[in-house]
Amino acid sequence: MGDRVGWRFDNSYTRLPAALFSRLPPQPVRAPRMVVFNDDLAADLGLDAAALREAPGVFAGNALPEGAEPIAQAYAGHQYGHFVNLGDGRAILLGEQLTPAGRRFDIQLKGSGRTPYSRQGDGRAALGPMLREYVIGEAMHALGIPTTRALAVVTTGETVRREVPLPGAVLTRVAASHIRVGTFQFAAAVDDPVLLPALLGHAIDRHDPGLAGGAAVPQAFLDTMIARQAALVARWMLVGFVHGVMNTDNCAVSGETIDYGPCAFLDTHDPATVFSSIDQHGRYAFGNQPAITHWNLARLAEALLPVMEGGEKRALEAASAVLATFPERYGHHYRTGLCAKLGLFTATAADAALGERLLAIMATVRADFTATFVALADMAEGRAPPPVDSAEFRAWQEDWQARLARQPQPLAEATALMRRSNPQVIPRNHLVEAALEAAVAGDIAPFERLVAAVRDPFVATAANAPFRAPPPAGGPCYKTFCGT
Ligand code: AMP
Ligand code: MG
Repeated sequence: MGDRVGWRFDNSYTRLPAALFSRLPPQPVRAPRMVVFNDDLAADLGLDAAALREAPGVFAGNALPEGAEPIAQAYAGHQYGHFVNLGDGRAILLGEQLTPAGRRFDIQLKGSGRTPYSRQGDGRAALGPMLREYVIGEAMHALGIPTTRALAVVTTGETVRREVPLPGAVLTRVAASHIRVGTFQFAAAVDDPVLLPALLGHAIDRHDPGLAGGAAVPQAFLDTMIARQAALVARWMLVGFVHGVMNTDNCAVSGETIDYGPCAFLDTHDPATVFSSIDQHGRYAFGNQPAITHWNLARLAEALLPVMEGGEKRALEAASAVLATFPERYGHHYRTGLCAKLGLFTATAADAALGERLLAIMATVRADFTATFVALADMAEGRAPPPVDSAEFRAWQEDWQARLARQPQPLAEATALMRRSNPQVIPRNHLVEAALEAAVAGDIAPFERLVAAVRDPFVATAANAPFRAPPPAGGPCYKTFCGT
């Protein structure tokens, strides 16, 4: 039974030990106004979209949904390699929506005011970054990549101060959970032996119910977490996604991509690409993401050591053995995906090397990541010229087409595989910026067109042509800013 608009809340996180969260309501805002509302997601959640669209106060924190027990979650994290105590400094978890399909999703307001974890921050968010989170989440979801999603963005009628005054906004985030690697780090760092087992039990109930009860549960949990993260970061690498701030507090144990701050998709291919203006040493550069994921998983393993069986030495050995599986698991997902992008149904070492050779050529000539892969299928069918004009590329093309000819599947099957593996539409940086700028100036139409385009990424239509084109040559070097 839900209430009138379909809210059906449980609040299982509030039943965990009190050190893991603080109870407080979101702080009301002056004049909530709906900017975007996600009808599709509302339907999945069992919510009455038509009614809720007209209820911006609920998504601003001015009114609580029935059954909500608002909290801010405590967590820690390694930020750029340094351990810090954090927590939801500008977010409130309203509760967990139980969907008609029997699933459980966190409903969180982001930008909802100060909390005990706000430190120097104002607890608020600006409209542009919240719309960015909305559109990138929809793009990732449409690409089939696990992600949190946004249900709504409302403006607050208040101004937030960043470098300049900006319109304030609140985003409603929907997530399989908000448990982070940093949540485990927090539980392990607090001197209270009940926290870690309680958190682990909760995380397993939510994400790995099959594990509950067995022996060596913490190892098994670490193992499934490694499997999820290996698959996730491989998916990022295969579409040119740069998260931008892969601190352990931004690494969800659900395996969803979370916390879209200074993230962006590659235009030209370059493993050293860094979009975030504060990532001065390139720690979170595109090509570093698998290694950073591995590093973050090592921090999870460390946090779990106290609850692992058999004393310190055996626990360390067990954790190290599981961690050591990451590179091969990542490599498996990545190689399989890369070969699919080339229309290859196997992923032998030689096949994967063919993919790596193409990427190296693309990096040398600064070819567009998305458009180059898209062009391969048309080129193989003789319907388009080669996307790169160089002797290296021509030699590669010959080897690749010879390889295609050697596999048993006909060319049509190979190009079909390529077309479902190579998106036509990604949220291009220059289009995202233009859409956000228009939205902040009061015109939401370009943003809505962009969202519509990224929701159907694997087809080329006349309507999505402007969204498929790489940015005009000679455009400014793209930077995102962390002052979100
Ligand atoms: P992020 O880099 O966005 O993942 O945030 C890192 C930490 O800073 C988290 O604990 C956030 O809750 C907190 N934080 C970010 N922005 C603000 C803000 N404007 N006010 C308070 N806390 C914030
Ligand atoms: Mg964060």
